[in-house]
Amino acid sequence: MPEANSKSDYVVGVDLGGTKILAGIFNSSLESVGVAKVSTKAQRGVESVVTRIERCVRDAVDEADLTMKQISAVGIGAPGAVDFGTGTVIFAPNMEGWKDVSLKKDLEKQLGLPVFVENDGNIAVLGVHVAELKAKPRHVVGIFVGTGIGGGLIINGELYSGFNHTAGEIGHMVIEVSGPKCGCGNKGCFEALASRTAIFQRIKAGIKEGEKTLLTDMLGNDLEDLRSGDLRKAIRKGDKFVTKIIEQTAEYIGIGVSNLINVLGPEVVVLGGGVMEALADEMMSVIVKTAKEHAMPGTMKGVEIIASKLGDNAGITGAAVLARKETK
Ligand SMILES: [Zn+2]
Repeated sequence: MPEANSKSDYVVGVDLGGTKILAGIFNSSLESVGVAKVSTKAQRGVESVVTRIERCVRDAVDEADLTMKQISAVGIGAPGAVDFGTGTVIFAPNMEGWKDVSLKKDLEKQLGLPVFVENDGNIAVLGVHVAELKAKPRHVVGIFVGTGIGGGLIINGELYSGFNHTAGEIGHMVIEVSGPKCGCGNKGCFEALASRTAIFQRIKAGIKEGEKTLLTDMLGNDLEDLRSGDLRKAIRKGDKFVTKIIEQTAEYIGIGVSNLINVLGPEVVVLGGGVMEALADEMMSVIVKTAKEHAMPGTMKGVEIIASKLGDNAGITGAAVLARKETK
């Protein structure tokens, strides 16, 4: 149990996702002392989600045996375009009704604490950079493979968000001009080829065309409850079809990585998110090999391509880093 410290020793990091909200309490050494999780239930509308975030924060504070008075600030990673200055979520493609939502203002009123809102990919790379890489590398690219593909950039040791604060939209680099349609309206985006959504679509399409896989024995023909971990299980049991799909996905990710290395020259490329957490052992060697094949000569020298160890905690950790940075 943490010592009863004075106010401003603790911050809250929140990861707002399309399906779940995670909140973590962090002490001054950036150690997590309490977490809470609630489902997002985005279909109930914006106001309801904001109330659920508030509940999740209060639950986490209670879980850490603290009071709200001992918290100095709240950081939040939100999916989609965020105006950092005003703390407004401009647009969140996976959450119904999220257009120009004044998240900072609304939550500050409900929690009575300063709140800072940032894009979730930016937040995740910040968490990895500070907590996992100890802020050592000056240039880092973060690629987070889940429902979509999020990204974030650390350039010259700082989070880089570009002219319109929208930089790092790695998931929407076009990798295959005539590829499948993306949620953003474009075709052949990185996330339309290599996200969990894309992987599941290719698997379901293959089964319809008569491909044989252990997944149907495990989950039934409609694969309704399919998760990334099931793919790992099938591969380890020797499923040729799933192995092929995951190798193909790892190749797409490797191509994405080589493009980013060519353009940005990072020291470290870190891969995270639910898909990587479940399938890093199966994918990393193919990702590295493909990146080497496609990168310009000389650009790969000394560059590390690694899987993050923070897993699902990258978001809450980065949000806590942001909260601490902004209240210093
Ligand atoms: Zn796209």
